[in-house]
Amino acid sequence: MNSAPALGHVVFIGAGPGAADLITVRGARRLTEAEVVLFDALTDPALRELAPNARWIDVGKRGFCHAPKQTEINAVLVRCAHEYRRVVRLKGGDPSIFGRLEEELLALAEAGIGCEVVPGVTAAIAAAAATQRPLTRRGRGRSVSLSTAMTKEGSLAEATPPSADTEVFYMAGRQLAALGRRLLAAGWPTDTPVMVVSQAGTPDQRASDHRLDTLAAASMLHAGRPAIVTVGAGARPVSAEAATEVLAVPSGRTASVETPTP
Ligand code: SAH
Repeated sequence: MNSAPALGHVVFIGAGPGAADLITVRGARRLTEAEVVLFDALTDPALRELAPNARWIDVGKRGFCHAPKQTEINAVLVRCAHEYRRVVRLKGGDPSIFGRLEEELLALAEAGIGCEVVPGVTAAIAAAAATQRPLTRRGRGRSVSLSTAMTKEGSLAEATPPSADTEVFYMAGRQLAALGRRLLAAGWPTDTPVMVVSQAGTPDQRASDHRLDTLAAASMLHAGRPAIVTVGAGARPVSAEAATEVLAVPSGRTASVETPTP
């Protein structure tokens, strides 16, 4: 009697923000065991060294050029689990944060395929660490929200009045000026501090400080790079020393700083 071939097991791994050494120890260990790896555009290619014999499949869909649709990615994932025993789905940052994890989990569940999720360092956390700007502050920063600036149709989402002491926006890189205008229109104070960090956590990181009413100045500095926008309490430098001009700093703690109006 022929029995159905055994299904593989899928491990979703958060690869961190784009620097190979920011993957977790568990994630790295699971990656070394992979027979096939489906990876996103924002994962560090250096991670290949952990699974040099695995088959690596690029399913990245960065930006708006032609890229696999989510349904195609789901189908490839399910197919791989029929062909291989150990499948890794490597995602930028953390799989649970704007990573379409829900759809992929559902596709696997419907196909009866078992899986595991290994967390990763999400971009908001990488940006906070790299710039030494804690997202929560004792007394003044009691809540944090993570939002996508984009709607699922790819346009800028409607802004709402502040809902947390620190609000972090993903996927706003192309629309920084418009995001600033929308937040102001939604009632945010003009002098709200804003920090923009692109390629956070990587050697090519760039960060800049703004106020909501001058956020447009960040567009050129971060053009074409994945960027995170931290607004409110968590955007303030810990040191009270204010820098005096806008300048780009390729890496390191704080970056470009704009003089706050007294
Ligand atoms: N799952 C990812 C987010 C994917 S959505 C995570 O947890 O980080 C893609 C968005 O994430 C980008 O548009 C950008 O806003 C942000 N992003 C990802 N990597 C980043 C990085 N290294 N620096 C700054 N922003 C990043």
